[in-house]
Amino acid sequence: MPEHNTRNTESVTAWCNHCGKPTQHKVSDGRRGRCMEHEAVGASKKQEAAARKREHEEKNPKLF
Ligand SMILES: [Zn+2]
Repeated sequence: MPEHNTRNTESVTAWCNHCGKPTQHKVSDGRRGRCMEHEAVGASKKQEAAARKREHEEKNPKLF
């Protein structure tokens, strides 16, 4: 049985050029959206950078 993207499907496995491997992609209204893997990594990296900056400011309050 061939695979179909139905409206009930929330994610689909597809090749991602960014990740260089098959990954889960979001699906909305039957259309394939963004890769969920490197999207998640990007968000966590951003959060990590923000946390590091906050930590740095707490350690050096006189500089700010
Ligand atoms: Zn990706």
